[in-house]
Amino acid sequence: MTFIRTTPPRPVDVTAVLPQLAPLARPATRLHPRPGAPTPHDSSIGGPLLWPADEPWPHCDAEHEGGGQSLAVVRVEQSVRARVAAHPDGTPGVRDHTPQERAVLENIDWDAERPDGPVPMLPVAQLYVRDVPVLRPPGQADLLQVLWCPLDHPETYMPRTAVFWRSAAAVTDILTSPPEPFDVEVEEYVPEPCVLAPEQITEYPNSLELGEELREQLGDWSKWEAADAGLDSSWAPYPDYPDYPESFYHSNLSIAPGWKAGGWPQWGYTDPAPRQCPDCDTAMEPLLSIDTFEWDNATRSWIPDEDRAAESSDDARHRDMWRPTGVQIGSGYRQQLYVCPEAPEHPHIELMQ
Ligand SMILES: [Zn+2]
Ligand SMILES: [Zn+2]
Repeated sequence: MTFIRTTPPRPVDVTAVLPQLAPLARPATRLHPRPGAPTPHDSSIGGPLLWPADEPWPHCDAEHEGGGQSLAVVRVEQSVRARVAAHPDGTPGVRDHTPQERAVLENIDWDAERPDGPVPMLPVAQLYVRDVPVLRPPGQADLLQVLWCPLDHPETYMPRTAVFWRSAAAVTDILTSPPEPFDVEVEEYVPEPCVLAPEQITEYPNSLELGEELREQLGDWSKWEAADAGLDSSWAPYPDYPDYPESFYHSNLSIAPGWKAGGWPQWGYTDPAPRQCPDCDTAMEPLLSIDTFEWDNATRSWIPDEDRAAESSDDARHRDMWRPTGVQIGSGYRQQLYVCPEAPEHPHIELMQ
């Protein structure tokens, strides 16, 4: 199955306003996850991994305190949600548990506790380079696999990720029933299985990463007027809302919201911070952005053409379109993974933004 998602053209070519931005353009791949039934041979979020049967499954050996949400219950709730989303409003019985779901719920031992020892990780993302050409894998690898431990970790308060690169052709026997964690921190740490519609786009840096001079020019209303950039003149005269051009750039012209590979990192939770490789001190590059929302009220211009009609309809099935994976990081942030461009096998780092 293939499907397509198309980002509308940006409201203005920002390099016509500020030619100095042109050299800072970076390719990114918007992943456009949508609930589906991916196979190990597909790029996916929360789908089955092409994992060799004879290779140990990744586990997290960190200390854990929280948790307590049964993964089995979360899976049942996910399948009910998927069923509701696939039927018109008010279809009778669509919310009732199936016999299989009832059996799962009846067999849960509510007094059981998490077994001691390392916690099996959950698949988060599987990206084939053929779908996501912005990836820069090491050697012959053509597949990126990201898993996470679905519990919080002291100091970061995010799931902890593990990153693997492999060559798909080298996997002959696939592990069909990987171990699963007993419990999760919150259901938002269990991605709904999603297929992807990868799309190549161009991004420009967050204004906080621009030099002072460039940032000043970005805020210069006359430059936008000279380029006939179509800024909403109701915000003029300029002195009443001096931040308007910068916030317009921020929302519409610089960085795409949602799950994506490569491109520029978004900032917001903190100011930009240096990200040096812990092994060789090289400046690290964005690998993957795991986002809570595919868009929000400030970033509606990024809603794909194919989703606009459904997004603006009253149909309750489309209410959560902006959160197709069900993942939530913190109170609605994103989890960014960075890799070392010199040696992708060096340890990655992750930030909440
Ligand atoms: Zn862990
Ligand atoms: Zn390095």
